[in-house]
Amino acid sequence: MSVDRRTAWPYDERGEPGDFVYQRYAHPAGSAAEAALGALEGGDALLFGSGTAAVTACVFAVCAPGTTIALAEGAYYGTGVTFAQFAPWGLEVVEYDQTGAPPADADVVWVESPANPLLTVPDWEAVRAHRALVVCDATASTPVFLRALDEGADVVLHSATKYLTGHHDALLGAVVTRDPAIRDRLYQARMRLGLSAAPDAAAMLLRGLQTLDVRVRRQSDSAAELARRLAGHPAVQLVRYPGIGGLISFDVANPRAVETATRVITNATSLGGVNSTMESRHRWEGDRVPEGLLRLSVGLEEVDELWEDLAQALS
Ligand code: PLP
Repeated sequence: MSVDRRTAWPYDERGEPGDFVYQRYAHPAGSAAEAALGALEGGDALLFGSGTAAVTACVFAVCAPGTTIALAEGAYYGTGVTFAQFAPWGLEVVEYDQTGAPPADADVVWVESPANPLLTVPDWEAVRAHRALVVCDATASTPVFLRALDEGADVVLHSATKYLTGHHDALLGAVVTRDPAIRDRLYQARMRLGLSAAPDAAAMLLRGLQTLDVRVRRQSDSAAELARRLAGHPAVQLVRYPGIGGLISFDVANPRAVETATRVITNATSLGGVNSTMESRHRWEGDRVPEGLLRLSVGLEEVDELWEDLAQALS
């Protein structure tokens, strides 16, 4: 796939700008990938330089000083850390248990399905009953398992670094909405704050979407089987698996010994790639998560090969 990496495109013979002017505004690979992702989610997609850039753009697009965001407890810890950067500008954040009703006074409800790494899912009926604007981080389910706009979200967000690009080789974020005013504010935030995605990363999204369905269904089938086997293992205290997707989290007495003993599964952060990764989340999130929690992102390896690796590491 050839990628147009130009940062500026010539005006036409009358001196008028064409579809593409300057890379920070839009570029061909980005627009093509946005059209493909928008079709999957059923809305207008915009790409950002990372999932975190997409979170930042959402704050600018849907919040103002004094806005209260109700954030799902146990969601990606970096989202709360990003929100904290906005405290001096008057953003209020409360955490809530997304398996129940959001706090009544929230202006924005921020759910994550399933939440990384505690793997809870939102109560959509309670979310729909609330007057707030709703953002759903659907990174871990992908549009294959969840069309969050159909469930009642106003905005769906992805760290496309994970399943959507799928190979641990692109840093990318995406936001999808059906609301033209929100789309415009997100676009302005991207362009004016410089949160744009690189053309190569956008091209990796186009590549990733071609295999998304087969990749995540296989990862999900393998994860369901591994969750079942882990639940029967004497060294495993607790298994969290939401029934779909490639993420499992489980608790053991000695997480550092287990994560460093695997041979097929890479001891690394991140998730959603074709190769399995596993890590203790306590090193990053401290007491927010149980000390023994290991997060496993199941890749495309044979399920029996993964199980043998886990079993030897657990012993
Ligand atoms: N949302 C979720 C659920 C994530 O897991 C992550 C990263 O791990 C992010 C957002 C942030 O994405 P990025 O690392 O692409 O900035």
